[in-house]
Amino acid sequence: MRTEASIARVVIDVRTRALDEPFDYAIPAPLAHQVSIGCPVLVPLGGRRAVGFVVGLGNESRYDNLKPIESVLGESLSRADAYELARWIADEYASPLAEAMRLFLPPGGTPKVVRRESDGVVTWDLVRPSVSAAEDRVVTLLDSAFEPRAGARLQRSIIDALRMGPVTSGELAVEFGAVAAALKTLEQRGAIEVTARRRWRGESGRAREDTAHTLTKAQSAAVETIAASAGAVVVLEGVTGSGKTEVYLRAIERTLGAGRDAIVLVPEISLTPQTVGRFRARFGNLVAVLHSRLSVGERFDQWSLVAQGDAKVVVGARSALFAPVRDLGLIIIDEEHEASYKQGSAPRYHARDVAAHIAHDSDITVVLGSATPSMEARAAVDEGRWVSARLPERVTAHGLPEVRVVDMGAEFGDGNRSMFSSVMSDAIDAVSDRKSKGVLFLNRRGFASFLLCRECGFVPRCQNCSVSLTYHERGDRLTCHHCGHTEPTPVSCPRCQSPYLRRFGAGTQRVEDEIHARWPELPVVRMDADTTSGKGGHERALAAFEDLASGLLLGTQMVAKGLDYPEVTLVGVINADTTMHLPDFRAAERTYQLLEQVSGRAGRGEDPGLVVIQTYWPDHPAIRAVAARDAEILYTEERELRSSVGWAPYRRIANIVISGENSATVTSHSVVLGEALSEALPDGWEVLGPSDAALARVKRAYRRHIVLKAPPGAALGPYVRAVLARCPAPPGVAVAPDIDPMDFL
Ligand SMILES: [Zn+2]
Ligand SMILES: [Zn+2]
Repeated sequence: MRTEASIARVVIDVRTRALDEPFDYAIPAPLAHQVSIGCPVLVPLGGRRAVGFVVGLGNESRYDNLKPIESVLGESLSRADAYELARWIADEYASPLAEAMRLFLPPGGTPKVVRRESDGVVTWDLVRPSVSAAEDRVVTLLDSAFEPRAGARLQRSIIDALRMGPVTSGELAVEFGAVAAALKTLEQRGAIEVTARRRWRGESGRAREDTAHTLTKAQSAAVETIAASAGAVVVLEGVTGSGKTEVYLRAIERTLGAGRDAIVLVPEISLTPQTVGRFRARFGNLVAVLHSRLSVGERFDQWSLVAQGDAKVVVGARSALFAPVRDLGLIIIDEEHEASYKQGSAPRYHARDVAAHIAHDSDITVVLGSATPSMEARAAVDEGRWVSARLPERVTAHGLPEVRVVDMGAEFGDGNRSMFSSVMSDAIDAVSDRKSKGVLFLNRRGFASFLLCRECGFVPRCQNCSVSLTYHERGDRLTCHHCGHTEPTPVSCPRCQSPYLRRFGAGTQRVEDEIHARWPELPVVRMDADTTSGKGGHERALAAFEDLASGLLLGTQMVAKGLDYPEVTLVGVINADTTMHLPDFRAAERTYQLLEQVSGRAGRGEDPGLVVIQTYWPDHPAIRAVAARDAEILYTEERELRSSVGWAPYRRIANIVISGENSATVTSHSVVLGEALSEALPDGWEVLGPSDAALARVKRAYRRHIVLKAPPGAALGPYVRAVLARCPAPPGVAVAPDIDPMDFL
């Protein structure tokens, strides 16, 4: 297709805030037929060369003497509205435009210009992507009567093999060894034909056929709500086992029926062959899969299948949101509350919020599924911005497990110094006696350590922010990592004067040792970061547990997911408290989501099962909500707390992290930024800090941060972006703005 345009607008693929606007380049006549929106081009840039992406075409420019595009580096494999969306993301999340553009580029397939220096001479060389389309050479028999000359046994074998139909040269090589010379001879003599055919890498093929199940009343209602919500966001709240996936499948069916495409996002950890299989079983080869466990070549091919319109259902992790679909009609985000939908590096976008933006002013529907919707989703439903659909019951007849909460402070007071309460011990005895299975969950999150009174469960919190204070051994102090408040460690519990105010937390190893000591007959499979490192470690641990006739699975956060064994009759939570005291205003919400998810593992078979939760804080709203199976208990409290203290979703938050090896320059630049952010601060906005980040030291880098609070809906990103552009970081200092952060580490 020849473009009439003589000028291309090009975004330069360089990660700097200085090049944040597209540049105009002339399109030389010989390239006119190749230049299209989205394609990568090589352009001159200030005495060197750079790769850029065409984002616009036209015939007018504000500038004279435009430099010409040097060459076109490939075809466009991005969606048509990539630039528009990238612009929005760059603004919304205060990130460089080039970083946002990269989201839309095919995996591993982007050319680069690299600087090389030898003997003092600097050159800028173009490096083509190492990933590109793979081809098979297909060999077809043309003349079945062809007679190789006597003694040419390899040629004869090849001819015989081809009588069954065309075969690739690779397959022939597997069978006969080196075949290149023989093929060449046969081709020259007109016996065969060798043609190139694109080979598609990645998961494909039809899984076990599946037909639609009969829907429950609630499922039918949800499907109807989704169908009637073009241009809107539907929050689908369904308890574990309520059949959300079937609702997704029906919504996709309808979308495909209208000739449109669907994107399904699933947390990376849940993207198992079983999950993908459910979509393939219904939609076969219309499904493309994109996630990080595929090779780059496989991802590139899956991406290309979408770009050419052969795949119409994209199933993948967060970044699949940017797949080059042609006519998007539906976006589904499963486990919407998962923090992994927020990207940890620039651009720090949240897939849910980008999806909501895409739906806005369009006829695209977004479905957010979860058993425990985020506060953000709930608030949007409350305010009437988003639509609600509910699946309140499990599709199977079995009821939900009984939940028993144990007050560990009271156990301690009664003289039980073990990590197992009497209720938990009895429950493990029962697993052992009845030869069933149990899952023990140890709630552990990396570094954050806090003090806990073992008698009354008291944990010191910040008066300003209502988040737990983090304990720092060095200096023996407690620090708030939201506002920077710090205080000395109290000698005894400020609430009950007990001297047992101690650091909290035990490792899986210690728990395993105690189980072995008390139940020597009971097999234990441990699943934590140590035992499951390496590819397939997670699956191996689960398989080992599955193979047991009876026993326990002991693990950290990872046992909460994807575990569905009917024999599990006990789920025991050793310590519910860890996540409650994360230095994060979402701590209570996270705890609730985690406990609810873990509890969902029990009683999926005939036996309804038992959930035992050990905690020092039995009346914490997250615990009460899980015990009563009523999310509203938590939500009501959180709504009040967050709106009074001023946290998301009732305030919009930005967390700006300043880091570098030299603490003096990091500190001084954080002060500069703090002042610049405060300078023209709009009414109702606040700047907290600068102060040390919760992780003040990562490797050799020193980290400080500034927190910004603004009213909901405030244009926080553009404000931060403008300040950062005005105050470039000195050498050796990195500034990472995080708008709507999911953590404060
Ligand atoms: Zn106490
Ligand atoms: Zn504070």
